[in-house]
Amino acid sequence: MKAAYQKREHTGSYYAASANERTEFPELKGATSADVCVIGAGFTGISAALALAERGYAVALIEANRVGWGASGRNGGQIINGMYGLKQIRERHGDSIADLLWDIRWRGHEIIHDRVRKYGIQCDLKNGYVEVAKKPKQVSWLEEGAAEREAHDFPYEYEVWDREKTRAMLGTDAYYGGFICHRDGHVHPLNLCIGEARAASELGVQIFEQSPVVDIEHGDRPRVRTAIGHVEADAVVLAGNAYSRLEPKHLSNTIFPAGSYIIATEPLSDDVANEINPGDVAVCDVNNIVDYYRLSADKRLLYGGACNYSGRDPADIKSYILPRMLKVYPQLRDVRIEYEWGGKIGIVLNRVPAVGRIHDNVYYCQGYSGHGVCASHIMGELMADAIGGTMERFDLFADLKPLRIPGTQWAGNQLIALGMLYYKLKDRL
Ligand SMILES: Cc1cc2nc3c(=O)[nH]c(=O)nc-3n(C[C@H](O)[C@H](O)[C@H](O)COP(=O)(O)OP(=O)(O)OC[C@H]3O[C@@H](n4cnc5c(N)ncnc54)[C@H](O)[C@@H]3O)c2cc1C
Repeated sequence: MKAAYQKREHTGSYYAASANERTEFPELKGATSADVCVIGAGFTGISAALALAERGYAVALIEANRVGWGASGRNGGQIINGMYGLKQIRERHGDSIADLLWDIRWRGHEIIHDRVRKYGIQCDLKNGYVEVAKKPKQVSWLEEGAAEREAHDFPYEYEVWDREKTRAMLGTDAYYGGFICHRDGHVHPLNLCIGEARAASELGVQIFEQSPVVDIEHGDRPRVRTAIGHVEADAVVLAGNAYSRLEPKHLSNTIFPAGSYIIATEPLSDDVANEINPGDVAVCDVNNIVDYYRLSADKRLLYGGACNYSGRDPADIKSYILPRMLKVYPQLRDVRIEYEWGGKIGIVLNRVPAVGRIHDNVYYCQGYSGHGVCASHIMGELMADAIGGTMERFDLFADLKPLRIPGTQWAGNQLIALGMLYYKLKDRL
């Protein structure tokens, strides 16, 4: 079945305004051939394409809009452990894979740091991420994070902060404690994405922008078709995440798009930036519906949060997010908001990234439930492994088949919205 898409330019985000370059890869026209065709140039698709190119594959990467146009170029930039659902994998597969799981959990960090170094990507990559407790009972969750690292002989610095230290390090009375991990951190996500795409292109990946894929003809060499061109390849990777509508027979109602929104202040004075975040760390609370924030390289506060399942963005993102920011930082009430934007995260029901094959040679990978910067890098590598015949990590995830809600995608979204309402209420109690 053909999917209908419009071609778009970047959203009006701070990231698009401060991108290192405006990519202009050609539109796909006529017939092209490759070993592997990847659909979607976000972190998942680019990470897979780059890993494949590094291993000598000829790759075509097709993007409906621009490189990093989706969640990858719009997110909070928080480099965090995105591997939820590992508890279920551990329960199902037993303790013997515990070490493998622990390594997988941190592999995304490693890939990002290695690529930034190897390809000289300018993307303001920094270490330091703090999870904060908004309620006294959440402090014990922070302690669990420290205990987990302790048990694994974790080689990076981490520390639980009491209320005093949290207040001193984050310039707010809003939290009961914090947990800092120096392996986590933050990044300008669009510049990371563009840098990785540039590296892939230099290794020979053919990148096509403004080229929405409308259909895949399956077979020994599937044909991936846009309105005016096609790529034939031995294998295909679907990496459109929450924005994809391809292959509904196999994938509809397995991933649910939810909106998340961010505002960016004007650059803060050095004094104010030092008061609210002297360690220049990323911050996220531990609620179910999280608020997350960090300073940009030019000292703007990028404050994000909320979640919306209606499929429509709020008419005024600033009015939606600003009260949340001022609750934490009332001292910023006179600061100007210069950018506001949103994007779609892909929620999956069991919170484990959904990985699998819809045919022997057509792979998919999606659904990071809002924690995808690192996870998408891990999954990109895992796709490249699977295409090369190394199935161990792929099978681990593919065995956990994505949960599907029966009925239409709309009905599924309403069910998820109801579930999230429950969690929202829980956060308030
Ligand atoms: C506002 C926001 C804040 C977030 N904050 C964080 C955070 O701080 N930390 C974190 O870890 N995660 C965060 N996330 C989640 C994270 O950004 C995503 O999980 C991750 O970027 C997903 O990458 P992806 O490549 O799978 O998908 P995307 O980046 O969405 O890329 C998919 C691409 O596929 C393209 N596409 C879709 N269909 C087609 C088609 N038919 N033909 C061609 N191309 C197609 C789209 O145009 C798009 O560019 C956030 C997400 C949002 C929206």
